[in-house]
Amino acid sequence: MRGLMQGDHLLISSLIEFANKNHGDAEVISRRVEGDIHRSNWATVSKRSKQVALALDALNVGTGTRVATLAWNGYRHLELYYGVSGSQRVLHTLNPRLLADQIAWIIDHAQDQMVCFDMTFVPIIKAIHKSCPCVKHWIALCDESALPKDSDLPELISYEGWIKGFVGQSYAWPLFDENTASSMCYTSGTTGHPKAALYSHRSTILHAFATCQTDVFGLSAKDSILPVVPMFHVNAWGLPYACAMVGAKLVFPGPGLDGKSVYELMEQEGVTFAAGVPTVWQMLLNYMAPLGFKFSTLKRTIIGGSACPPAMIHSFQDQYSVEVLHAWGMTEMSPLGTVCTLKNKHLKLTREEQMKIRLKQGRALYGVDLKIVGDSGDELPHDGVAFGDLYVKGPWVIENYYRNDQGSPLIDGWFPTGDVATIDLDGFIQITDRSKDVIKSGGEWISSIEIENIAMSHPSITMAACIGVAHPKWDERPVVVVVLRPERTLTKAELLAFYEGKIAKWQVPDDVIFVENIPIGATGKMLKTKLREQLKAYALPIA
Ligand code: AMP
Repeated sequence: MRGLMQGDHLLISSLIEFANKNHGDAEVISRRVEGDIHRSNWATVSKRSKQVALALDALNVGTGTRVATLAWNGYRHLELYYGVSGSQRVLHTLNPRLLADQIAWIIDHAQDQMVCFDMTFVPIIKAIHKSCPCVKHWIALCDESALPKDSDLPELISYEGWIKGFVGQSYAWPLFDENTASSMCYTSGTTGHPKAALYSHRSTILHAFATCQTDVFGLSAKDSILPVVPMFHVNAWGLPYACAMVGAKLVFPGPGLDGKSVYELMEQEGVTFAAGVPTVWQMLLNYMAPLGFKFSTLKRTIIGGSACPPAMIHSFQDQYSVEVLHAWGMTEMSPLGTVCTLKNKHLKLTREEQMKIRLKQGRALYGVDLKIVGDSGDELPHDGVAFGDLYVKGPWVIENYYRNDQGSPLIDGWFPTGDVATIDLDGFIQITDRSKDVIKSGGEWISSIEIENIAMSHPSITMAACIGVAHPKWDERPVVVVVLRPERTLTKAELLAFYEGKIAKWQVPDDVIFVENIPIGATGKMLKTKLREQLKAYALPIA
């Protein structure tokens, strides 16, 4: 029997309609590539995203067509989010930090017909446009007067000139099946070609609903939200959608991701909630500490994308009274899988005991099912000790990659994440490693994340990566590669002594390598593949 309820499909356009109607004056602030701070609001974003939809119609861009963006977080990018997906085209956010050749490969694989780019990325457009025959239109995100004239560029259209023609024209968002594709994002895959997750309107709305919950991001119309995480990294973790759903003020950092720019924006715009990867927060804390600056409005920050070092959680909580919500997810999961928020029974625990929980990656939100599986394929117990490959399923987890000729990645309906984790009795996961980064020494596993976290808690260290190096007796032994803070000194013996009593003796790294920097990938994570390559000639000091 069919329920007698209205069956409206869950479409992204309903978010911007809602924000316009109920929170039209809630601000959307952007630091622009042009250098100034731009002020808009949800009503204007709604109007201008309809202009985008009409402008796409005028260029005969068909439904389902991929429209790519190569852009920082900002209001024009947000208008494209709604204008493209809302009008039944597919928004494809390209990561400008990839190599030009990789970007060209991705554009060709996605068969993007249009690329909308920030002026910062003109050099990329120059480098790739000849190898992208599928692209019919190149839209520069600028005023008509700022359009660059350069013979190395394809014919460009200015965004402002393009949408200007449709001011004041009415537009009704089309209605269609909620399972229609809305946006796509390629994984930051470090081996082989990147693969694309193709999100639907339904998966996007359900993910947004889930993230707004109190025990997840806990978003509200009272918040001023700063997604430092880029809109090209899994849709800024869904915040552009979730903020419209609750009518929050949205603050975009544009290209200003350095500590000073982020701090100033937070203070000027009364940011209460921020989200980003640990490397960005490290830059912010490094900027603030020597100046003795404090946050006047920031209450919570989501840290995810890679393991958040305990020292960072301590810093935010103890020095700045900012609650850190450690979160885990991936491109294939839209991205959110778990967030670390305490349960009622944890409130009685001491601060130190609570901290042990907060260091984990958290528990599943409604809509995400988790399990860990051992080498034999059997499901492992949720006892906080057994660790195995982490599998997920749910309505915002991929079923397959876009244009994938290698068969479904699912195993019995579950997506293997490639992460290794424990799950405790309360459902909190702790990621011990990427399966390809796991170090196996004499048949025993060593968690590279644990080794890194201990190094990062040393006051002289700003960054640490642990990798396995071949050993004739033990197969592999851990080595920790560290970057020192400016003007700090530390010897190998001192760091190795620092591990004593914190982990078992056999887990302590065999060596310490001091470097100037550790390679960072396109989404702000340490690139261990590259680090291993750089250390190819390195051999363990064997006693
Ligand atoms: P991406 O698809 O680029 O977002 O990368 C997803 C991967 O990042 C996951 O499979 C994890 O390996 C890693 N990751 C994300 N969040 C965390 C976290 N909080 N702790 C440890 N690893 C994480």
